[in-house]
Amino acid sequence: MKKNGSKTAALALALWMAAAAVCAAPTVVYASGEGAVSAAEAAAQEAVEISDARGLLAIADAPEGAYRLTADIDLGGIDWQPLVFKGTLDGAGHTLYNLRVTKAGTQTGTTKDGNLKVYKTEFAGLFSAVEKASVKNLNIVGAEISMESDTHCFAAILTGSTDDSTFTNCSVQGRVHMINHGINAGVAGLAGYGWGVFDKCSADVELVFEDRYRNGHCEQFMGGVLSCGMATIRDCSVTIDGYDSCHGYVHNGGVVGMFYHCGLKYSHKDVTGNRVQGQIHFFEHNKDRRAYCTGIIGERLSGCRTYTDNKAKFKRDETFNYTKVLLPETCEAPRYTETVTPSGCADWGYTVHTCEGCGYHWTDSYTPPQHTPGAWEATDRVSETGGSIEQRVCTVCGEVTEERVTSDGVSASDAVSPSDAKGLFGWNKKTAAIGGSSALLLAAAAGVILLFRKKKNRR
Ligand SMILES: [Zn+2]
Ligand SMILES: [Zn+2]
Repeated sequence: MKKNGSKTAALALALWMAAAAVCAAPTVVYASGEGAVSAAEAAAQEAVEISDARGLLAIADAPEGAYRLTADIDLGGIDWQPLVFKGTLDGAGHTLYNLRVTKAGTQTGTTKDGNLKVYKTEFAGLFSAVEKASVKNLNIVGAEISMESDTHCFAAILTGSTDDSTFTNCSVQGRVHMINHGINAGVAGLAGYGWGVFDKCSADVELVFEDRYRNGHCEQFMGGVLSCGMATIRDCSVTIDGYDSCHGYVHNGGVVGMFYHCGLKYSHKDVTGNRVQGQIHFFEHNKDRRAYCTGIIGERLSGCRTYTDNKAKFKRDETFNYTKVLLPETCEAPRYTETVTPSGCADWGYTVHTCEGCGYHWTDSYTPPQHTPGAWEATDRVSETGGSIEQRVCTVCGEVTEERVTSDGVSASDAVSPSDAKGLFGWNKKTAAIGGSSALLLAAAAGVILLFRKKKNRR
C-alpha cells in the first residue's frame, strides 16, 4: 500500500468492484433457481433480512439465526462490539463499509501454541468468534481493526476466531493493527485463529503487529487469510503489506502464518489455487531464531492434505534493528493530505490520506455508488388507472431513478423507489463501468423499455 499513487488506489478499487460484481453473480443464479428449490435454499430464502447497522448488531440476540443482507451498510461512527456468530449469513454481494473495531468480543476462548500450551485469549473483528457458521457473498471495505491488548489476542477483519466454519466469496479490505502485551497473538485478513474452509475469498490488507512484551518470547502469527490454524483454503487472493516487530517467534505467511492442527481433529486441509502479492517487513528479536516468513504458509507445523497451484509474488523483508518498531508510516512527524473521491453512479467514493513526507497512504470514509436524480419530468405514458407518469433521470448516466403517478391519487403506492429501479437495471451498472456516452444512452434507453416491460408483465 506504500508509495502508490491514488490512481493505483482507484484501479485497485475498480478491480475490487469487479470482484465484488463477480461475488454477487452466484446470488443472481440462486434467486432465479432451477425450478426445484432445495431445503437449504428454502431456509436461506426465509432468512432474516438485514438492511442497516442496527439489524446487524441484532445478530447478538439470535446468533444461531439465518440472515441475508439486502443493502450495503455503513458502519462508520460506530464503536463496533464484535459479535459471536453460529448461524448463516448471506451478504448477497452487499458491502459493509467503514467498520471500526477497537475492542475485543466480550467472550474469551482458548488458543494453543505450537507445543499445545493453552492460553486464555480474546478475539476481535466484525465477529469475535464464529462457530459452525457459514458466511458467504459478503464484502467488507474500509475496515480499521485497531487493538491494544494486555493479553493473548487474535484480530482480523472478518473474525477473530473460527471454529469449523465456512467462508465463501467473501472479501475484506482494510487495516489490522495490534499492539500486544501477551504471548499467543496474531493478526490476519479474514480470520485470526482456528479452522474452517475459505473458498474464493480475497483480502487486501495492511497488517501491523507490535510486541510490547519484550521478555515474553511471544508466539506471533500473521497471515493474509488466517494467522494460525488449519483450513482448506481454495482459490483465494491476497494483497498484503505486513509489519511485524517481535521479541519472540514470528510465523508470517501471505496466506497462513502457521498451519497447525491446534490439537483438534480436522479433515479440511487443502491449500490450492491461491494467489498472493505483497510483502511482510519483520524482525525476530530472539537468539533462537526461526524467522518463518514466506509467501503462502509461514510455518507448516502440520502438513496439508493437498498443496498445489499456489503462487506468490512476495517479498520477505527481514531487518535486524530491534529498537525501531516497524510501521508503514516512517516519518517522525507525519503530515497528511486528504483527497476525496466522490462516489459515482456505479463507483464507490473514498478518501485517501497521503503522508507528504514518505508517501504512505491509506483509504477510508467509503461512500456507496449513487445516482444524481434530476427534477421530476413528465412522460407521455399513463398508468393502468389513467394517471400521468412522471420520472426522474440521473443527470450523470441517464438512468431512470424514480417514477410516480401524479393525477389519479395513487402516487404513493405506484411509485418505484430508486433501489427497485436499480434492481431492475442491475445489468446497466456493468455498462456504465465500461463508460462511453453512447453506450450509456443506449443502456438508459433499453433500461426504460425494460422497466415498462417488467411493469406490464406484473399486471
Ligand atoms: Zn510519512
Ligand atoms: Zn447515474
